[in-house]
Amino acid sequence: MKDGFDVVVVGSGAGGGVVAGELAQGGYRVLLLEVGRHLTTQDFRRWEAKATHDLFWPLRFAPLPDGDVVTFLAARCVGGTTTINTKVALRAHEEDVAKWHLATGLTNGAGRPFARADLDPYYARVEDLLGVRERSDWQKCIYTVRPGFRALGADLEPVHSYTDAECQSYGSCLQGCPTGGGKSTMNTYIAWALARGLLDLRTSAQVERVLIEDTAAGPQAVGVEYADAAGARHRVRARYVVAAAGALNTPQLLLRSGLRNGALGRHVGLHPARLVYGLFDEPQDAHRVYPISAHCMKFQRDADGGFVVEAATVMDPIAFATTLRDEHGPLWGARLVEAVRAYRRYAGVLAMVNDENNASVQLDAGGAERIAVDLQPSELARIAAARQFSHDVLRAAGARQVYWTGLISTHVQGGCRMGDDPARSVVDRRGEAHEVKRLFVGDASLLPRTLSVNPSLTVMALATRLAEHLVTEMSEDLSPA
Ligand SMILES: Cc1cc2nc3c(=O)[nH]c(=O)nc-3n(C[C@H](O)[C@H](O)[C@H](O)COP(=O)(O)OP(=O)(O)OC[C@H]3O[C@@H](n4cnc5c(N)ncnc54)[C@H](O)[C@@H]3O)c2cc1C
Ligand code: SF4
Repeated sequence: MKDGFDVVVVGSGAGGGVVAGELAQGGYRVLLLEVGRHLTTQDFRRWEAKATHDLFWPLRFAPLPDGDVVTFLAARCVGGTTTINTKVALRAHEEDVAKWHLATGLTNGAGRPFARADLDPYYARVEDLLGVRERSDWQKCIYTVRPGFRALGADLEPVHSYTDAECQSYGSCLQGCPTGGGKSTMNTYIAWALARGLLDLRTSAQVERVLIEDTAAGPQAVGVEYADAAGARHRVRARYVVAAAGALNTPQLLLRSGLRNGALGRHVGLHPARLVYGLFDEPQDAHRVYPISAHCMKFQRDADGGFVVEAATVMDPIAFATTLRDEHGPLWGARLVEAVRAYRRYAGVLAMVNDENNASVQLDAGGAERIAVDLQPSELARIAAARQFSHDVLRAAGARQVYWTGLISTHVQGGCRMGDDPARSVVDRRGEAHEVKRLFVGDASLLPRTLSVNPSLTVMALATRLAEHLVTEMSEDLSPA
């Protein structure tokens, strides 16, 4: 191929950053297209409003039947959401992965149901490259809430995270890590490949569709079309296309490209979560800690309750003030002012609930995104139980007052799920679209069922596995582009 690439990767987050970095370091000609900007450690400072503008996707919402909404948070920058996330690095539970085979018939290629063990070598590589380590350097706010967990027969244990010894526990992870101690695909996989001149990264590049041509073997991806910052359109050709624009975006990209698989954009999981805050007598300074250094895993499995509670943090002031609510609804006026004045005295826990992938993302007749959420009674019961437990923990720990946020989704998964059964999945077990050859998915939309833990390590493990597969396929593929 003279004027094209071996692989074009759409999106530079947990999935796309890993696929692009692995393949570029392997010597393949890789083009990485990212709609956001390339900001790095030297740009990051604790300025909540500016970071939200520079690094985040505009907030998205889905209505709930009771008039409330689910709020979706994700990044739009090089490194994707890994640039602004809290960097908790957990392998999926065996039971989470066992659900994948049940959902889509996913096997491991050797005829057995896909299992956690099939991911372990890829987890190990990511953990090694990112320096995943245990965070037992707990600060005051953890010791404040821990007695509450113990009083309720539970306990906290240290998390693992992709933060190295340079992490100064500043707590500004959601505005980009100013020390570089917090790892992202931006300051690892992508930076390593760029430093060696091995990767073509184009930013402010909005991919609008995958170029698909009919061949004797059926429809085949041959590149993508994207718009640059000035609105000019470009077409690039590549032997393989990897869509890794995030679980809310990749299904839309494939729909815009003409794919019609019935599972596309469906079976989306939210991993619904909310922060629950306790107001204590003493300052906790939970905004100046590595945000999530501990978690309670007692209720992780569906049979045990189906939720995980992480500790202990508060959101930065704008997000904190605009989301506080209690049993009377959102705080407002004098009560809100009074609550925010005590900002330093809150310690918050994050309750994340196992869901059953009942959301969807589709395009309306005008081509605009439509996100729908259809939480079922079993999911609503888990959500209520997780909030009640968090409330009781904080009260038992001595909180004078407890507030909480509405439901947020930071861990969207599914929408292009992988499986052996084309009727229940969008891509096959290697990540290639059932409908279109050489079109692969490499992000959180692959996951057939949501995990009970934070998903990014699993997204990176799957992306590592996809890169390995593409190397094999390219080494066997001698055809010109
Ligand atoms: C506040 C927050 C905290 C989190 N904390 C954790 C945590 O502690 N641990 C954990 O495991 N997970 C965490 N997550 C979730 C985790 O970061 C995501 O699950 C993961 O990054 C998803 O990877 P992805 O590749 O699917 O998408 P992303 O990482 O979101 O990357 C998608 C990329 O594609 C780009 N893109 C989208 N559309 C286009 C287009 N048309 N053209 C070009 N580019 C496009 C986007 O700008 C983005 O950069 C957190 C998420 C949030 C929001
Ligand atoms: S807490 Fe650690 S990882 Fe997060 S922004 Fe601060 S230094 Fe970076």
